[in-house]
Amino acid sequence: MSEKETPVPSNFIRKIISEDLRNNKNDGRVHTRFPPEPNGYLHIGHAKSICLNFGLAAEYQGNCNLRFDDTNPEKEDTEYVESIKANVRWLGFDWQENEYFASDYFDKLYQFALDLISQGKAYVDSLSAEDIREYRGTLTSPGKPSPYRDRSVEENLSLFEQMRDGKIEEGSAVLRAKIDMASPNINMRDPVIYRIRKARHHRTADKWCIYPMYDFTHCLSDAIEGITHSVCTLEFEDHRALYDWVIDNLDTPSRPYQYEFARLNLDYTVLSKRKLIELVREGHVNGWDDPRMPTIAGIRRRGFTPASIRDFCNRIGVTKSDTRIDISVLENTLREDLDKRAPRAMAVLKPLKVVIENYPESEDEELDAANHPQNPDMGKRKVPFSRVIYIEQDDFMEDAPKKFFRLSLGREVRLRYAYFITCTEVIKNEQDEVIELRCTYDPATKGGNAPDGRKVKGTIHWVSEAHAVKAEVRLYDRLYTEANPEQGGRDSREVLNPASVEILSGALLEPSLALAKVEDHFQFERLGYFCADSKDWDSDKPVFNRAVTLRDTWGKMNR
Ligand code: ATP
Ligand code: MG
Repeated sequence: MSEKETPVPSNFIRKIISEDLRNNKNDGRVHTRFPPEPNGYLHIGHAKSICLNFGLAAEYQGNCNLRFDDTNPEKEDTEYVESIKANVRWLGFDWQENEYFASDYFDKLYQFALDLISQGKAYVDSLSAEDIREYRGTLTSPGKPSPYRDRSVEENLSLFEQMRDGKIEEGSAVLRAKIDMASPNINMRDPVIYRIRKARHHRTADKWCIYPMYDFTHCLSDAIEGITHSVCTLEFEDHRALYDWVIDNLDTPSRPYQYEFARLNLDYTVLSKRKLIELVREGHVNGWDDPRMPTIAGIRRRGFTPASIRDFCNRIGVTKSDTRIDISVLENTLREDLDKRAPRAMAVLKPLKVVIENYPESEDEELDAANHPQNPDMGKRKVPFSRVIYIEQDDFMEDAPKKFFRLSLGREVRLRYAYFITCTEVIKNEQDEVIELRCTYDPATKGGNAPDGRKVKGTIHWVSEAHAVKAEVRLYDRLYTEANPEQGGRDSREVLNPASVEILSGALLEPSLALAKVEDHFQFERLGYFCADSKDWDSDKPVFNRAVTLRDTWGKMNR
């Protein structure tokens, strides 16, 4: 991690760990884990959890495990496992040899379940799923015991074995912990800890047809791995009593503790794998790595850098209160990172032809351009100039107000790194649209300054027609039109932004950009930070994504 990033601010979890270390709890060890379920692609919310867990391990010279919580065979896949690993690595974290799968513990978990049954603390329930729900009661009324609750240990052991052997139909029996049907915490009303699923698992294949539930698996996996601080999001707060109950009622190799923090919520964004899957399956976006997606794959392709994501996670901090983060916080960390690192270049997104009438027809020349205005170490490059150039359509206005500091009829502007030009004539088509400008240039202003000291108000970018490289440039906007797409339980698909991407297929680039490599970043002068697309890039037709505008103008100008 570079020293440029924001120092990690303290938070309540760090305070707990420091206190534990002072008391020599866990023999002074700190061991965390990041436990994704491989049922989808990771998103920026997961990045918060990754930075927190790996960050804590690094800060306290501990370890952080990467553990795949793979107990739902129908939803999980090795494709997701591979993408999760690639995402964590890309973010800059290394789990070394500490890669685990909950499915590696299926034998041990089965033994733990037998132990609970033998202690009379678990039973096989033959109620239907619907009845179990009904018997569970509500927040205001206690549950009532299942008629199967008092089966003998022998009967339970035999039934559980039959479940494992595939002799009982899916949905006809479950294993439940025997805790307290009147508990005010519904999670403690005899939670289901094993269910039958006659489905093939991506790692254990057909070995098992019973699968342990999250609340049983997670705490025991933590205990098996010697996790000291099991950090998760607030929705598991009410599950902590069950976490502790399972650990306290079994002879586990270690005693982990669970701590909860608030999940990341980001404006104009939905962070839930299930909702993101919908967007992909229903074709609202072009796949998991669509640059509009909040997935790690998407924001990477959009042009976010690992350093900017880590910095973002540090800045938002770790608390116990649910808040929504303004998207400008994320975009600003990227601007700050790329402002320092991204070489500058010129590109014209919506070209308007300019003929410089007093520039010799058969000539061209190369002008010096700095790759970074504040950092001479990044060097210079040559930019070709000739009689016909293109400027941005927006940089010309025929009858311009006084405050318009770009080009207009009769006014003079500076062409970046080149000359002063004055517009002398405007050519229009039959629809009265400006299609070409005629200009003159002042050869004495080469490099951008007039020897007589005269000033111009504006500097605009340009590309020489004869040397330009044609490219596709994609500009992105928010995926949703509402800051909280799910407000009041609304289906977020109702507020998808119909104009979340604008594809400009006739953009023109200065020739040096044709040599860009996939995922290279540039500041296109005056336009924003752009990233060479990793999927559709073609040496004949470069494709750039705008990662972020130069300034936070969204909302004011809508782009
Ligand atoms: P989703 O709701 O998006 O499907 P999940 O919680 O089901 O997410 P998991 O794969 O179980 O996904 O998550 C792995 C870890 O990432 C968990 O510890 C979870 O608490 C954490 N996590 C998930 N979403 C967020 C978020 N928005 N902010 C912070 N941490 C998160
Ligand atoms: Mg989950």
